[in-house]
Amino acid sequence: MYTLLFGGRYTRKLMNEIRLKAHAKINLGLDVLRRREDGYHEVKMVMQSLSLHDEIRIRKSRRPGIRISCDHAGVPTDGRNLVYKAAALLMEEFSITEGVDLMIRKRIPMAAGMAGGSSDGAATLVGINQLFQLGLSQKELMERGVTLGADIPFCIMRGTALSEGIGEILTKLPGMPSCYIVVAKPPIDVSTKFVYTNLKLNELTDHPDIDGMVEALDRKDLEGITTRLANVLETVTLPAYPVITELKDIMKTEGAQGSLMTGSGSTVFGIFTDEAKAKHCAYKILSKCYTKECFVTTPYSPAQ
Ligand code: ATP
Repeated sequence: MYTLLFGGRYTRKLMNEIRLKAHAKINLGLDVLRRREDGYHEVKMVMQSLSLHDEIRIRKSRRPGIRISCDHAGVPTDGRNLVYKAAALLMEEFSITEGVDLMIRKRIPMAAGMAGGSSDGAATLVGINQLFQLGLSQKELMERGVTLGADIPFCIMRGTALSEGIGEILTKLPGMPSCYIVVAKPPIDVSTKFVYTNLKLNELTDHPDIDGMVEALDRKDLEGITTRLANVLETVTLPAYPVITELKDIMKTEGAQGSLMTGSGSTVFGIFTDEAKAKHCAYKILSKCYTKECFVTTPYSPAQ
């Protein structure tokens, strides 16, 4: 039997195991419009998937239950893991009595604003749906995914998208023009709660030009995109964590057309048209010991 892998490749496999790619994301633009009465923030963001990914392997087992293993010691392997929550959600709904073994190969930096956990959870929803032939559409998976986390619907859709509401209202956008993206996660963990609590919405004078960025994507205009890179959450993180500004500056000095912090941080990315310059930039960041987590990657679009 031929199975369509999440990453878009076909492979010959028996349906008792499936392997999926869980892609990282960055925000090319991030605006916060208002704080809702329930505490959630209404956002307007441009999301972009990256080739950088974790790998999730799901194997059916006669032994009931959900078991997780991971090659990264910092990742919880119990019910706190989004992979566990995603598997449990579908297995309970469809009364699946067999067990599953889930293996996570972690490559996306953690607590980084790159939706690593959300993407793993999204891939698990897609994988369980395929493995047990549940017949759920992408839309139905996204409706279930949002109950686990606001970023999960985008991580199921992947590619480039405008994200509104609390992050769950998605509009697919044309893919980003080809480029190289350096991502660097400094060795600091920024708490998302700290960032949103300290965001002074009333004092924001500049808002990202999200509509202009959407138009630039429509025109396939990379310069139009890189001149509009903006994230209102930087108003909190840049003063608190100088290393974020240092990384943004190094990327620009090394030839990035633009650089920005993604999500609530702490990862910084820079967009390059020249692969050699991108690699040199990553080399500089690694050799100056800003971080051990620095990669050169590219935008990712799922096969249509
Ligand atoms: P986001 O961009 O959605 O804010 P993030 O990149 O800031 O995500 P994650 O890497 O997803 O953050 O992880 C944050 C926390 O979530 C981790 O510290 C970990 O305890 C928990 N977690 C749950 N499931 C996973 C998973 N599969 N991979 C990594 N962390 C996970």
